[in-house]
Amino acid sequence: MASDSAASPAARAQCPYCGVGCGLELKPPGEAEAIWTARGDRHHPSSLGQVCVKGATVGETLHHNRLTTPLWRERLDQPFAPISWDRAFALLVERIRTTLEQQGPQGLAIYGSGQFLSEDYYVANKLLKGALGSNNFDANSRLCMSSAVAGYARSLGSDGPPCCYDDLDLADLVLLIGTNTADCHPVLFQRLLKRKRKVKEALRLVVVDPRHTATAEAADLHLAIRPGTDLVLLHGIGHLLLEFQALDRPFIAAHTEGYAELEELWHAWTPQQVSDLCGIAETDLRQLAQWWAAAAGVLSLWSMGVNQSREGTATVAAICNLHLVSGQIGRPGAGPFSLTGQPNAMGGREVGGLAQLLPGYRSVANPEHRAEVEAHWGFAPGSIAPQPGLAVWQQIEAMERGELGLWWVAATNPLVSMPSLDRVRAAVAQCPLVVLSEAYAGTETAEVAHLLLPAAQWSEKSGVMTNSERRVTLCPAFRQPPGEARPDWAIFAELGRRLGFDDQFRYGSTAEVYAEFVALTAGRVCDLSGLSHALLAQHGPQQWPFPAGTAPGGGQPRLYTDHRFPTASGRARLLAEQPFGLAEPPCDSYPLVLTVGRYLGHWHTMTRTVHVARVSKQHPEPLLEVHPIDADRHGLLDGEPAEVSSRRGTISARVQITEKIRPGTVFLPMHWGASQPNACEANRLMHEEACEHSKQPELKAAAVRLAPLS
Ligand code: SF4
Repeated sequence: MASDSAASPAARAQCPYCGVGCGLELKPPGEAEAIWTARGDRHHPSSLGQVCVKGATVGETLHHNRLTTPLWRERLDQPFAPISWDRAFALLVERIRTTLEQQGPQGLAIYGSGQFLSEDYYVANKLLKGALGSNNFDANSRLCMSSAVAGYARSLGSDGPPCCYDDLDLADLVLLIGTNTADCHPVLFQRLLKRKRKVKEALRLVVVDPRHTATAEAADLHLAIRPGTDLVLLHGIGHLLLEFQALDRPFIAAHTEGYAELEELWHAWTPQQVSDLCGIAETDLRQLAQWWAAAAGVLSLWSMGVNQSREGTATVAAICNLHLVSGQIGRPGAGPFSLTGQPNAMGGREVGGLAQLLPGYRSVANPEHRAEVEAHWGFAPGSIAPQPGLAVWQQIEAMERGELGLWWVAATNPLVSMPSLDRVRAAVAQCPLVVLSEAYAGTETAEVAHLLLPAAQWSEKSGVMTNSERRVTLCPAFRQPPGEARPDWAIFAELGRRLGFDDQFRYGSTAEVYAEFVALTAGRVCDLSGLSHALLAQHGPQQWPFPAGTAPGGGQPRLYTDHRFPTASGRARLLAEQPFGLAEPPCDSYPLVLTVGRYLGHWHTMTRTVHVARVSKQHPEPLLEVHPIDADRHGLLDGEPAEVSSRRGTISARVQITEKIRPGTVFLPMHWGASQPNACEANRLMHEEACEHSKQPELKAAAVRLAPLS
């Protein structure tokens, strides 16, 4: 295997944080700076030189606290001891074979990450789904945007955001629902803000969020709905579009199916009923619907506020419904646009990095898809199991039942990011072998692992990432990995060879892995077959679809411009689904709704950003946002600590009394895990009830009570 890690004088790459996928220009250490430094890459078409604090400071995060050698312990009460890679692989081979003998392929599971490069995802999936016959490969994208995946597929016939960032400059109504874009996708938000300042009322920004976030601050209209009423609100907009006779009847007739049922459902959701349930003024609801009806281009942006709900997929469908009935899709400035959280969550979807998927937006449940992939991978027919694998919460439940013999976590920290953390901790502790491949030492998940494998991270391995607008960027290796750290794809490939699949995992470079993958996408919605590492290196980032033969720069910025959808009928599906609200509504014992989110400077579980002094100074601790009415009612004082309790436990945080949160709702950031100073563990309190279609847990809302910390 050739090494992809080679020192180079300068580099361009996609930022390894959020799904905006900004271009970074990386300068090597020199006289002025002892470390690699980042700035915005003016040549990157997605960001044009813009960058936020996370991207600008990424160079400060690469050296600290790294895992540099494999570490092993037989039992969790023992200390870790260094072992060689050779011994680590031998141990893995032995334990995988034992698990296969005793429990079958279902006893194996991998939980990967949107931090993976596409090549990491691809090889891990090929190993587990193809070589070992288990579809139990899931990723932390399950917690982030699997409702968008399922929603697009159900409504439009396939996954794949149909829009592009240029649409931000062309829409005249932008609906931001369940997204704090200012803090979580800052460069996109700044782009919107810049245009808003320039064109003023010609661009209407409407924000739907129980918090008055920095995003809401910039809005023409902020609808601070009750948590869990997004779907009701969207049906209310539909009712008013009907009332205003603002539907695109020819589009509905020619390009959709299911309209009659949807119209019937919308009729029943009267504006008064919707405004009462959502807790907003009817005039505000009407204003939004009027703007929608009058707009030449409507763009809806959403993120986890929509996706992390037990009705997340239905809510995505409801957004698609509105775009379809008004013909606001497949043209400039219009469309339902899901913003992805992780930098390569989109790439993960392309390579089949969830338990129900195969590469090229294929499904494990589809026999033709399985046969195509088996043939391409060089495995015998029937090698890929026909049932979808276990999504991550199902993996936790399988560990509770003693049904997993090996759980392999890679590039993610579920002991902070999962809901119901005490239950997760107890379940994982029962698993006979927990493997963690990770760039950083001392994460919360390492506490429950037996085998730690040092992983090379972004900047130390070559590969590809895809951002929210379907733009693919080559991220080269421009630094050496520390110690014995190895790229994830290379770890999985070596294990594949040691398990006896020499032909299938004999790769000389990540460019070879990528070439094998893109060939598998030919003719699919996400056709990447014209891309290669060489083309991306020479011509820069490219948008897909990019079939073989496409000239550089010739990828399609938008999907469905011909209004034909990849369903059996060629029509998009209008789905009429009744809301059922929160899985855990407030009650007498737990009268408030806790919602969790993110701060501008921090990234997920802080394994990187905790090392950036500027960010830690900006966000030194998690603050519990409480409305003055609720603070009075519960005897809380600003700046004093409070206890927050749900049915799953109690945590504490300092109170910030603010009118920026809706009465009845409180907010905590999710970043601080048990090992951080000011540990808070907000997700300990959240529940695991999930959307039936996407299996995405409702991480955005749990019933809680508050009390002063005595
Ligand atoms: Fe990185 Fe996202 Fe910030 Fe862009 S907006 S620099 S992708 S964190």
